[in-house]
Amino acid sequence: MKAGPTIGSLLRRGESALKGGDSPRLDAELLLAGARRCSRAALFSDRDEAPAPEVADLFLRWIAERARGLPVAYLLGRREFWSLRLEVTPATLIPRPETELLVERALELVPEGVSFRVADLGTGSGAIALAIASERPSATVVATDRCEAALAVASRNAARLGIRNVTFRTGSWFGPLAGETFDLIVSNPPYVEPGDPHLREGDLRFEPISALVGGPEGLEAIREIARDTYRHLSPGGFLALEHGVEQASAVRQLMIVTGYRAILTYRDLAGGERVTLGQRPRGDV
Ligand code: GLN
Repeated sequence: MKAGPTIGSLLRRGESALKGGDSPRLDAELLLAGARRCSRAALFSDRDEAPAPEVADLFLRWIAERARGLPVAYLLGRREFWSLRLEVTPATLIPRPETELLVERALELVPEGVSFRVADLGTGSGAIALAIASERPSATVVATDRCEAALAVASRNAARLGIRNVTFRTGSWFGPLAGETFDLIVSNPPYVEPGDPHLREGDLRFEPISALVGGPEGLEAIREIARDTYRHLSPGGFLALEHGVEQASAVRQLMIVTGYRAILTYRDLAGGERVTLGQRPRGDV
């Protein structure tokens, strides 16, 4: 019986089909490891083996889709975020490394071992809510999204990861949170401008536009959240927002006029102003 192609030869074939992409070798390795359900390291030790024909078929199908631009995360159906393995689908944004900055800054505001109420608006795959909930088991996290399909993914992620201190509610921003207050509200809302050329490049072409574009100026969702958040924050509570690197001063301005204090912007690893925090003063009830 003639053996099929080896791991090594499949990788070479995948890599050459993806030439012209940003990371042909890495993508081919991730897809073959995914199809074979093994680690990338195992691809090297097993490079002379011939994988089962179904594995080779699945890999080559994924390579063809990747060559058309489909994101690796959607093909694999997962992405790592904050050391959590998250299911992602085309109904959810693919969690990004810069959003880990938002999680880091948010966690500094959540004390350990005490009850603390956190809301995550527009949670998508649940990335931010689950990262915070997993790090602070005594906090209670409520996450909203108006997209049912995204919330189904988020709920599956919580269940699979065994994270119990998070609940999900369907609705736009504060829609399902009427009358409730929180000690911390976080969001990575859509903030890209509709004319931004990045929307026509790379993974963004395949992601939900409603999770990316924030109205004509890219600031509409942020404006709405900054305004409505104020009355959903307990006195002394914090708002932490991700935004575009060009939007930092506009976001700070919005927070100032809304009444927030202690406003601070943090830079992401690429040096861009990416996350802004503001606090509702304690004494203005
Ligand atoms: N950071 C994302 C990007 O520019 C956008 C995410 C968002 O709109 N919330 O690719």
